[in-house]
Amino acid sequence: MLFLDEAPEFPMNVLDALRQPLESGRVTVSRSLGSITFPARFMLVLAANPCPCAQPSRQDDPCRCTPMTRRRYLARLSGPLLDRIDVKVSILRATRRELLADRRFIEPSRVVAERVFLARERAAKRFAGTPWRCNAEMPTGVLHGEYRLPGKAMAPLLRCLDSGVLSARGLDRVLRVAWTLADLTDRARPGVEETSAALGLWLGEER
Ligand SMILES: [Zn+2]
Repeated sequence: MLFLDEAPEFPMNVLDALRQPLESGRVTVSRSLGSITFPARFMLVLAANPCPCAQPSRQDDPCRCTPMTRRRYLARLSGPLLDRIDVKVSILRATRRELLADRRFIEPSRVVAERVFLARERAAKRFAGTPWRCNAEMPTGVLHGEYRLPGKAMAPLLRCLDSGVLSARGLDRVLRVAWTLADLTDRARPGVEETSAALGLWLGEER
């Protein structure tokens, strides 16, 4: 896993260099003497503050960044890069009350890990006899062929594709996440609930 904290602070050419390995799972380094390709399948996690001052919504010291500054800051993460980020979530700063709250109701990591393990097992079982092991590795042709979803499940995605909100690459990524959501809840295949939820995660909608 590659975690880039304060991602907009990285030079744009560095961020954009991540696009090729994200897509292909390989990285090619070219020099005058020739080029060499290395395996580079990884999970990319980017964190970003909503603005350069990094003081979101504090009552005692509110952020003074203009909407323009904020937009420009986040725009450093280019569209083509964000296209390749499957899940985008906004996280609000925790209040003192939340930090001190009773944590007995919070799911322990052990329980979450078990659920992830089972979901991965379901995917591996489905892909038995193929070269891929998880939904992220499913090639586009297979995704739209053997694993094509019924019209009802596809409807919200096709609407966004037609209006230009969702790119063709984004569509494939949303579909793979929808399969993972189905695996997490032990459903045979994603329905409209999973495709809509996956679309919301790709768009980064507030929930
Ligand atoms: Zn600010």
